Order: sequence, then structure tokens, then C-alpha cells
Amino acid sequence: MGQPKYRTDQIARWIWQERVGDFSAMSNLPAELRQTLADRFVLRSGKVVERTKAADGTVKLLIEWPDGERIETVMIPSGTRATACVSTQVGCGMKCAFCASGMHGLKRNLTVAEIVEQVMHLSGETPNRISHVVFMGMGEPLANYEATVGAIRAMIDPQRLGISARHITVSTVGLPKGIRKLAEEDIPVTLAISLHAATDAMRREIIPAALRYPLEEIMLAAQEFFDSRHRQVTLEYVVLPGVNDTNVCAESLARVAMRLAANVNLISFNPVPSLPFSRPTSAEMRAFADRLEKRGANVQIRRSRGLEADAACGQLRQRKATTEETALTTENTESTERKDEAEGKP
Ligand code: SAH
Repeated sequence: MGQPKYRTDQIARWIWQERVGDFSAMSNLPAELRQTLADRFVLRSGKVVERTKAADGTVKLLIEWPDGERIETVMIPSGTRATACVSTQVGCGMKCAFCASGMHGLKRNLTVAEIVEQVMHLSGETPNRISHVVFMGMGEPLANYEATVGAIRAMIDPQRLGISARHITVSTVGLPKGIRKLAEEDIPVTLAISLHAATDAMRREIIPAALRYPLEEIMLAAQEFFDSRHRQVTLEYVVLPGVNDTNVCAESLARVAMRLAANVNLISFNPVPSLPFSRPTSAEMRAFADRLEKRGANVQIRRSRGLEADAACGQLRQRKATTEETALTTENTESTERKDEAEGKP
């Protein structure tokens, strides 16, 4: 654009360090250049269409892209640290039985820019820097592999978001090929596998994707990840009372965890309207954790955050879509009534 080279550094600083959402805020650029940039480029393509904040400070944003598709992204504060929970797809093709995101299937992949942009929006929701990222929003990150890795590279680049790779967790339903590929990248992220059941039979009941990927294959891939990265793998386990929290389940889960030297992260099921599961009591969570620990496994109960912010995967989008549908139906009925009136119909 015929500008001196130092302008690129100035602009990069505004984008990545100051995280402004608008070229007009770049106060050390000449006004004319700011205008030219605004005419030619888009800094943020998503619009925040809903924002909910829970009593614990967790903020959930519903972001709408220019094509009308919506995703959720969450900022979870904890002392001086702030975790961004990002989405990688609109909807999800995995259709786990307890998850709101998969209910309407997969709409499309997000781009690198759309994943990174979520962190930009969330930066404005905390006085601290976003220090951690978890790929635990909507979608299956390893089913959108290139964009996920591209976004991670932007996140760990010291010139861009500058987040330590060790503070980034990729959570997957367990796609062995993707896990192997990730093991070969030069990025020491943490891998979390959404296990939810430690036998193939039980897993197939709650995770359709398990039909294609037997546990043994996932475990071999996880072992490979562990060997190449020397990073301990986390096994996520959503506790569904009466479904996957029996003694037999504890026995098989402990065995898998010990074999992989993995940490087990127990997650309390976050109720989704219309789904046939109940939320475990804290006593039920504790009891299941005790059974695992008794068998030698390393267990943590994940603290549930942002309940009032509809913080479980896909919940805000689901609720918002339902309210809008109701509003739309009412509107349609009203306009039909008005039309009928005009035409003299009863
Ligand atoms: N597709 C990836 C990442 C997105 S889901 C994966 O499967 O890991 C992030 C985590 O939230 C997963 O462990 C998922 O099982 C869990 N989750 C989804 N719906 C939930 C609910 N209603 N209550 C509790 N955890 C849920």
C-alpha cells in the first residue's frame, strides 16, 4: 500500500497486543490510512448476538458469522488466570447422546480466523490476559484438523497471542488418526480424550463415533501422543447417573487410566432440556471418584462453572434458537391473523 514498513508493526500491535476490534481505534495511524484499511479489511467478522454472565464471572458469548451461523465461546476466570473455551465447528457431527451441540448435526467448519477471533472477543471480557485455551466449545477439533492446528499456531506465536502451548488443551471425542497427526506436530499441547465409557459396548451407546473407532485404537494413538510429547493425557468422563457410573464402569475406567498413566477428569452432566439424563449429586460424583481412586487411578472432579450462563456445550445456542422459534411462531400467527382480518376472514 506504499506505506513505510513500520506501519505493519504498529498494526500488528493494535491487533494482537491491544486487541482492538476496529481500525478507527489505531490512533497512531494517519486517519486516511485507517479509513483505507477499514474499506479493505475486516478485523472481526463475527457479531456478538447474546452475552450471558454467571455469578462466578463466567461469560458466554453467542457469535454470529456473516452467513448467519452461530457458535458459542466462553471466558472462564479463575484468580488472575482466564481460560478461553473455543468452538471449532458450527454444530457437531459426533452426536454424543448427552450433548446439545450435536442435536442438529454439523453445519460447517470454522476457519482459523473464526477460531482465533473468539479469543479476541473474549479478551474484552477480562481485565487479565487470556492465559489458557481449551478446545471444548462446539464441534470436534480433530474433525477440523487444519484450522485447529492453524489456530493453535496463532495462539502460541509470541508475536501474536503468545499463549504457552502447555496452557492449551485440545479435547477430542477420540479420532485416532487426528491424535497421531497431532503427536507429530511440534506443538506441546495437552490432549484430552472424551472417553465417557471405558468399554466399547457402553461407549457405542452414548457416542455414535465409537462405532468407527474402537477403544483399543484410541488407546494406541493416545500412547503414541504420550510417547512423543511426554505430556500426560487427560481422560474426560461425563458422569451420567445410572448409565456409566456403576462398579463395572469404574473397574474398566481405572484399568484404562492406569494403562495410559492418564489423569481422569470427572465432569458432572450439565442438564440439557429434552435429554433423558440426570445431573449427578456431588455425593454420586465423590462416590465414583472414590471407586476409581481405590483402584489406583489419578482422579479430579472438574469444578462446574457458569451454570447460569448455559455453559455446557451448545446450550446457549440451543436455548436462543428455541426462544427465537417461539417468537417467530407467535409473529407468524399474529401476521396471519392480521392478514385474515384484512381479508375479512374470522
Ligand atoms: N468434541 C470435543 C470437544 C467439545 S465437547 C470432545 O468431544 O471432547 C467438550 C467436553 O464437554 C466433552 O468432554 C463433552 O463430552 C463435554 N460435554 C458435552 N455436553 C455436556 C453436558 N451436557 N454436560 C457435561 N459435559 C458435556
